[in-house]
Amino acid sequence: MSSPVSSQAHFVGIHLSGDTLRSAIVSGDGTLVDRREFPLDREKLMEQVVRTVTDLRNLAPNFQSVGVAIPGLVNRITDQVVDSRELPATVREDLHAEFMNLTGLRFELENDANAAAYGEYQVGAGRGAQDMFYMSIGDGIGGAIILDGKPWTGTSGLAGEVGHITIDAEGVECVCGNTGCLETVASAPNIVRRANERLDRDSTSSLSRLALNKEFTASDVAHEARNGDDFALMMIERTGKYIGTGVASVINLLNIERVVLGGGVMEAGDLILNPIIKEAQRRAFQPCFEATEILLATLGSDAGAIGAALLARDAQIT
Ligand SMILES: [Zn+2]
Repeated sequence: MSSPVSSQAHFVGIHLSGDTLRSAIVSGDGTLVDRREFPLDREKLMEQVVRTVTDLRNLAPNFQSVGVAIPGLVNRITDQVVDSRELPATVREDLHAEFMNLTGLRFELENDANAAAYGEYQVGAGRGAQDMFYMSIGDGIGGAIILDGKPWTGTSGLAGEVGHITIDAEGVECVCGNTGCLETVASAPNIVRRANERLDRDSTSSLSRLALNKEFTASDVAHEARNGDDFALMMIERTGKYIGTGVASVINLLNIERVVLGGGVMEAGDLILNPIIKEAQRRAFQPCFEATEILLATLGSDAGAIGAALLARDAQIT
């Protein structure tokens, strides 16, 4: 346990994912002063959030508000989670009220991609930009748009669903009901699926180190690519081409100043970023491409919790 932080104002962010609860305490200027990570017990979600907040209060007694990043559709006007495939336990009418009643603190709920985007925008790779598009590429692909310093969430809170833009009209079926979405080729499980399919039908690729490990993950693909495995490198580059195709559409549509790419798949770093930039340049309208910076996110898996804390900070001001 760290020692209590100073008595200046602090803000707490909590990021709930399907299996993990991450928390962050940030100071008023956005500096991260404490981070934690626990396995999430979905059956005891409410108790776990309240207990986390209570524990953090011992560490930073002087905070009044908490931001919670949730993997689902969040209505910021009614403070309700309308839908969450990943964490259905958050879809309950009294979630926001219960959080406040049980802790006596003000709570802000936000979609996790929007929260992570806000974190990157304020203190990460988006710092200094006016407008930014954020894309998170992990088990799924999410996105968020920040215009003039505020998340722009569209007419019903769904803007930024870049994972469901069509990349391959003849492609495989997506969880959303469409076929050939970006997510069906570039999310972590789909990188593994594509690699396995190719290993099955191509005898030369079976010489790849990936073929030795039948249960490999997307981070194994990135790891082998870094170690010079040709097949793994090709899979990462092709994935980068798909993502770059999506980024080109975003650039053409928004003429946005900065595109920030985060999530587990981007941990492959330049190996994936370079093919993304190359493909975006090849496909985007040139003047739009030239006006855009495409960068790796810098906050890692803490982006959602940090962003949620900063949303709590800024909601308090307005
Ligand atoms: Zn889809």
